[in-house]
Amino acid sequence: LKIIVEKPPIPVAYGPAFEGERIRKEDTFIEFGGQRTPAFEWVRMRELDEIEDDKVIIVGENYQERYNKGGQMPLGILIEVAGRKMQKDFESVIERKIHHNINEAQGLWHMGQRDINWIRISNAAKNEGITLEHLGRIQTAMMKHRFRSIVDKVQVTIYTDEHDVVRLREEARAAYKERDHRLGTLTDDAVDTFYSCLLCQSFAPSHVCVITPERLGLCGAYNWLDGKAAYEIDPTGGNQPVPKGELLDARYGRYTGVDEYLKKASGGAVETLNLYTIMENPMTSCGCFECIVAIIPEANGVMIVNRGFPGMTPIGMKFSTLAGTVGGGAQTPGFMGIGVNFITSKKFLSGDGGIKRIVWMPKGLKERVAEEFKKRAEEAGVPDLLDKIADETICEDSEKLLEHLSSVGHPALEMEPMI
Ligand code: SF4
Ligand code: ZN
Repeated sequence: LKIIVEKPPIPVAYGPAFEGERIRKEDTFIEFGGQRTPAFEWVRMRELDEIEDDKVIIVGENYQERYNKGGQMPLGILIEVAGRKMQKDFESVIERKIHHNINEAQGLWHMGQRDINWIRISNAAKNEGITLEHLGRIQTAMMKHRFRSIVDKVQVTIYTDEHDVVRLREEARAAYKERDHRLGTLTDDAVDTFYSCLLCQSFAPSHVCVITPERLGLCGAYNWLDGKAAYEIDPTGGNQPVPKGELLDARYGRYTGVDEYLKKASGGAVETLNLYTIMENPMTSCGCFECIVAIIPEANGVMIVNRGFPGMTPIGMKFSTLAGTVGGGAQTPGFMGIGVNFITSKKFLSGDGGIKRIVWMPKGLKERVAEEFKKRAEEAGVPDLLDKIADETICEDSEKLLEHLSSVGHPALEMEPMI
């Protein structure tokens, strides 16, 4: 994805350098959302004649006065986009950029998405003259800039009255739900093209993420729709279509088209790939994986550890040590970097028996995936699987892990041997 940074017409500095900037409570002039006030952000596709380009509309009683008082305020951001090459599927891809668009402004901070977003404007930015209108200006300028080949027109409406925000948030929620449903129907089997991501080849030259509807990139930042949209935006960029070709192995997920593509794109380093197993020719890992999956042979299963978990794992290595052995763009059977959301995909290690193989995960990771995981576990016939999976509060070594697994009757112990 080629991103040339252009500054939107706002009175503060702008650029990726400000993305990591935090705004503390005492430096905050005003905030929106974050469970403090109702808020949402929503990108909706429109026909070209339905919206006016570069228009920012603010709806709300005395919104200027209320904004100038500071504190907290409800906020609904509706971004309507139109373009000849725009597709409804791209709404979520564009919507996710709201986060970056806001964060790149000095003194502006954004967290979350959809109806759990949270925005802060610092005292300093307010003193520089940042207004509500600028929140919209940032979006009109940057959306057209980032998505210039699919977005021709952008119109932003900002709602500041609580009853408007709450009412439109319901509409937005219905749209999010419909989108999620559509994403749920996109399966690896239902499409004939996957997408590659080559962005990490700059430091892991043989690494290629093969992104499928049911397997996002291992950094967690790119899903199949992102790949599709990115290719639409820049056909010579880092995301290329990978025609599946013929299915060679349904259990392990091996395709002629994927293998052919990989041979070329990895410079011959990777000959063949199995999408759904960790044991034989698994996906390579660069270095930005959100999680590492690793086999625990004595438990006949795998553990998953997430970046940011500082403790020991039952295989005797911390995340940082493991990351050193897994990354670099080589296929390492038994070890694999993945994105968090892949854990609850129906294709997660499906060739090896799926989520029933998971025997250990940090407690925080368990909590993070719990909702989706419970659905998958039910489908797999083990509704209480998450409770049977050990975490650091139960054990940090393999001996205690095995004791735990047998005491709870973990299904991995009964499955066919992994090795
Ligand atoms: Fe792309 Fe994969 Fe790197 Fe993420 S980890 S940027 S999906 S190559
Ligand atoms: Zn990477």
